[in-house]
Amino acid sequence: MTEKKKVKTEETKKTHAFQAETKELLNLMVNSLYTHREIFLRELISNASDALDKINFQSLTKPELLEDDGELKVVLDIDKEKNTLSIYDNGVGMNYQEVIDNIGTIAKSGSKSFFEQIKAKDDVDLIGKFGVGFYSAFMVSERVTIVSRAAGEKQGTRWESTGDGSYTIEKVAEEPRGTKIILYIREECRDSSNPEEDFLNQYTIQNLIKKYSDYIRYPIEMDFYREEPERDKDGKVVEGGKTQTIIDRRVLNSVTPIWERNKKEITKDEYFQFYKHHFHDWNEYADVIHIKAEGNVQYTALLFMPTRAPSDLYDKNFARGIQLYSNHVFVMNDCRDLLPDHLRFVRGLVDSPDFSLNISREILQHDTQLKIIGKNLEKKVLESLKKLLKNDRKLYEELWQEIGKAVKGGIYMKYKNKESLQDLLLFPTSHPEEEITTLKEYVKRMPEGQEEIYYATGKDIETIKRMPQLEIFREKNIEILYFVDKIDEFLTQNLDEYDGKKMKSVTRQDLKLEEIIGKKKGSEKGTGKKEPEEDKEEDEFKKQEERYKGLLEAIKNHLGEKVAEVRLSKRLKKSPVCLVTTSSGVSFNMEQLLKGVNQPTARARKILELNSKHKLFSILRKLYKKDKNSAEMKNCSEILFNQASLIEGYELENPVEFSQHLGELLVKAYR
Ligand code: ADP
Repeated sequence: MTEKKKVKTEETKKTHAFQAETKELLNLMVNSLYTHREIFLRELISNASDALDKINFQSLTKPELLEDDGELKVVLDIDKEKNTLSIYDNGVGMNYQEVIDNIGTIAKSGSKSFFEQIKAKDDVDLIGKFGVGFYSAFMVSERVTIVSRAAGEKQGTRWESTGDGSYTIEKVAEEPRGTKIILYIREECRDSSNPEEDFLNQYTIQNLIKKYSDYIRYPIEMDFYREEPERDKDGKVVEGGKTQTIIDRRVLNSVTPIWERNKKEITKDEYFQFYKHHFHDWNEYADVIHIKAEGNVQYTALLFMPTRAPSDLYDKNFARGIQLYSNHVFVMNDCRDLLPDHLRFVRGLVDSPDFSLNISREILQHDTQLKIIGKNLEKKVLESLKKLLKNDRKLYEELWQEIGKAVKGGIYMKYKNKESLQDLLLFPTSHPEEEITTLKEYVKRMPEGQEEIYYATGKDIETIKRMPQLEIFREKNIEILYFVDKIDEFLTQNLDEYDGKKMKSVTRQDLKLEEIIGKKKGSEKGTGKKEPEEDKEEDEFKKQEERYKGLLEAIKNHLGEKVAEVRLSKRLKKSPVCLVTTSSGVSFNMEQLLKGVNQPTARARKILELNSKHKLFSILRKLYKKDKNSAEMKNCSEILFNQASLIEGYELENPVEFSQHLGELLVKAYR
């Protein structure tokens, strides 16, 4: 008793001003958001449910926190005399400082973008998305009181505000554990002639709970009041008799968690409501996987394939993983052992009576049951992605933009399920009628005689299109995959072939182009044979190789170790030079990427290819005839090599010398 008094005198009521952002937010809630005011209830119930989850979780290790005060639940109460609607939960509660931190301030950095977005479109769903749900209470209330006591503490805290810029806060004596939020409903929100907007009408509240919060797995209870006429002993109404108020307490929600319900009876909207509020993703989901397994390993799983990946999917500390429940009781967030890393964008939960409540992450790693469940879930997720690719290509392509790199990671990390992952890959393509393609589609389009899948690597499609190595492909209409993600070329280390066809970079030396070009032309006529002019071209090329042997050797000598070989090009049609590399080993792109991450040891072997039909080539011939060892010949070789290097994105070893040589040439040309 004395202690209570002491508390009262010590902790006098204090008034605090809201931080500027909170003020702005409250102003918005009170004055601007009129549509869908009803969502305040969903937000407050959702907070209550979170608080119940927290105490549930904490009590796993500290059962004393529960204080034996009965079932975890939410209780609503309507008081028509005081015009209040109260929401009480016996959850984890808040202490004095937590009330200040959680309710008095908007801690989330997203509040600025919340304002921008909500001003642009009056969408109340954004309230939940940005974690400012509590403030929606002011959409319907002229005053809000919170009385809360944190689990394990003796004193409670009372907070009150009219939403006008400040709040009062004081410590109070014993209160039940948890949080009670008392809303003093505004006049226009308790208009009995308009039940939809009458938030003191018990049926309105009942409907709202069904609509928005049915998935909540703690009971949401409310006392229902009804007037009963007096009846005689036969049950007949006594005329002129007194009426009697009967109060019965009802549970307003289904309580059974959605994942335990029969999936045939769950509507898409119910799944969506659950998905939104449980996993905090406000975008529609793309697919839902709902499994009940009854065999040796018993479990229920509810997984959602998102349409948008979480924005931090590629952050190192991304909290990935599936939630674990045991008989509907939450056990763990972010269990990483259920789905492989490259499927980390999937959100969901698994409930199994076999999980022990205080299971540790270490034990989970070796849990064979978990492995069996994980394997099955993975299969289902891959099936779902495949189904999406087949049935809703547009949606899949959009999703792919966000999850593609993650899925590719599975192939790069040499994940065992490569076969199922490779068919999920999409790449931009040079095909005139397609923008993006699967490997299967590429192979299907391959003309007779083409044995390899060709790809070109670069930072974007435009850059790739300018690559001189592509000239022959363009002229002969051979499809190229554009590898624009840094990881793409690394994939080929594990995915070096698909459907028996080698994956080949257009910058490799040994392209099997002759066969395709020949057969392509022939096959159009149905003969499968080479055209005579193709043979002629081939002969001509061989002759030229012979003729310019000395010239090519001279250039090689001038360039020394910089190149492994200098040769004539079949692939160049317009450009004078390009670099290609040997058929195996590091590619140009990889060499540069490895250099970027400080692993400069791996080097691509460079082969300089020259276009014998280009004017520059005739200049080389002239210089060679004059004096193959001249400084001019050397400079010219260097310039051509440097040009080719620049095209491949290499930094020049000696840019000063390069520009000097170019300068000298210009002077000579125009003097
Ligand atoms: P969010 O719930 O998205 O974090 P809110 O503005 O709705 O944003 O709530 C702010 C914080 O206040 C919550 O994160 C929680 O810590 C605390 N809180 C709100 N309601 C309750 C409650 N009923 N019990 C315990 N804590 C609560």
